[in-house]
Amino acid sequence: MNPLSIFLGLLLMGIGLAMFLPAYRLQQAIARPFPKHFSKILRKNIPHYLKMPADLQLQLKRLIRQFLHEKKFIGCDGFIITDEVKVTIAGKASLLLLNRPSLVYPDLKMILVYPSAFIVPRIEMGSGGVVTHSNQTLSGESWSDGRVILAWDHIQQNKSNLPDGHDVVLHEFAHQLDSESGRTNGAPQMSTAHYRHWSEVLSAEFALLQQAADHQVKSALDYYGATSPAEFFAVATETFFQKTEQMARYHPALFEQFRAYYQVDPRDWN
Ligand SMILES: [Zn+2]
Repeated sequence: MNPLSIFLGLLLMGIGLAMFLPAYRLQQAIARPFPKHFSKILRKNIPHYLKMPADLQLQLKRLIRQFLHEKKFIGCDGFIITDEVKVTIAGKASLLLLNRPSLVYPDLKMILVYPSAFIVPRIEMGSGGVVTHSNQTLSGESWSDGRVILAWDHIQQNKSNLPDGHDVVLHEFAHQLDSESGRTNGAPQMSTAHYRHWSEVLSAEFALLQQAADHQVKSALDYYGATSPAEFFAVATETFFQKTEQMARYHPALFEQFRAYYQVDPRDWN
């Protein structure tokens, strides 16, 4: 065999390995038994998990395995990343992917976790070109460049205050889904036929929430959803999973759109 053939053979083998090795490693990671202490964390921190049917529990575990294999967790301000932190965040994020033929947040690379609310500097250009510098305190933030930032104490509060409808993990990962379409605008990827109804219903409900917020009329949806279509989608996602009965009763058209998009009905888990 001449050196050129050997070189080409090695090159093809290298390309083959580079193409198939990541998929092989992912399959290996998913196939590993789900650790018992991971299941214990799910039972403790994700109430939905306890009540969903066995096939959805299996799907959730598979998604968590893939999430943990592909994403990097980074502790900020001295925060230590434990299995509880990883499994809780991966578990809540994976709730949004059940029954859907979607990838596992393909654009997301890392999750940064602070012990508590973090301060983010903001620079805003006002009228007349006046630049304003300020600091904003946040419990979560989602970036389309592959980062989600979360405050652990808020995630723990959400765990114990389930009926209030807030869940920072669901909120920020809804933004991730939204940004997969190329624009974070409250219209995640979906079929054209579904999008037509989605657009009609969400535009009307967004306007209603803006009116409710202006006049301080009580709504199942948090007023924060009235700030933009992107925030409306994230807040409505929280409401869909955390205040399901209220959303179905008071916003049936919106509920149906979210049921069709998320392919689950969390009322079945109550
Ligand atoms: Zn948001």
